[in-house]
Amino acid sequence: MATTRGIAVITGASAGIGEATAERLAEGGYSLVLGARRVDRLAEVAAATGGTALPLDVTDQGSVDAFAAQIDRCDVLVNNAGLASGLESIEELDEKRVRTMWETNVMGLIRVTQALMPQIKGSVGHIVNVGSIAGFEIYPGGGGYTASKHAVRALTKTLRLELLGTGVRVTELVPGMVETEFSLVRFDGDAEKAKKPYEGVHPLSGADVADCIAWAVTRPPHVDIDEIVVRPVAQATARDIARD
Ligand code: NAP
Repeated sequence: MATTRGIAVITGASAGIGEATAERLAEGGYSLVLGARRVDRLAEVAAATGGTALPLDVTDQGSVDAFAAQIDRCDVLVNNAGLASGLESIEELDEKRVRTMWETNVMGLIRVTQALMPQIKGSVGHIVNVGSIAGFEIYPGGGGYTASKHAVRALTKTLRLELLGTGVRVTELVPGMVETEFSLVRFDGDAEKAKKPYEGVHPLSGADVADCIAWAVTRPPHVDIDEIVVRPVAQATARDIARD
């Protein structure tokens, strides 16, 4: 694979932040390997960015192993694949939803990171985990999601310690409200409910987050951006939002 800046691997690149990150890193001279379950959508992103689309379900170890087996080097890994499912109180939490969030956001991140660690250590090596302000803030109905993103934060900080001395960089990218398909997924495809969180607010776009990722990965090799918290101006916390 011809490369200028290096190979960037992005999970969840078929939509939203992952898709925007693919576009941004391609512009910045990276060669891309893109993973997601919806291979048709992924193929479109790959065609637009000159990347390679590979099927990936981060909840499935076999899928992750097959994905990693096709990747020779990994200068940047963006662990972006993730989702929220539902907005029920803990009293009413559906175990299936919690397991889906955990399997995707937490176990998926562990699986992909483990599978690609030899390639990461053998390259320039930078792991960017897409966390969330839900990794240190909470809101009613967010129990399942916030718990999973708190875990992402703990895993990212642990990786930073465990990789100390290897030269591998570790960054947590921590967005507030971003308008993507995230809300549609959270509300099981109900477009009316999905619109609500964005009403009267100018949210971040996937491109706004992608800009931050691109900046973090293009610092000199001795500079580690430990974390970037980025929110809409109108959002001070997960719960404090100024609406028109
Ligand atoms: P999105 O538009 O729904 O995109 C999510 C991406 O994750 C899709 O490409 C999806 O692809 C992929 N994905 C989901 N499950 C997967 C699986 N099992 N295996 C592989 N890929 C999977 O949402 P987004 O906002 O861009 O979310 C990206 C990340 O940002 C997530 O980690 C999310 O938690 C985080 N985040 C979002 C917000 C926000 O407000 N939007 C705020 C903070 C953090 P397929 O369905 O094709 O597999």
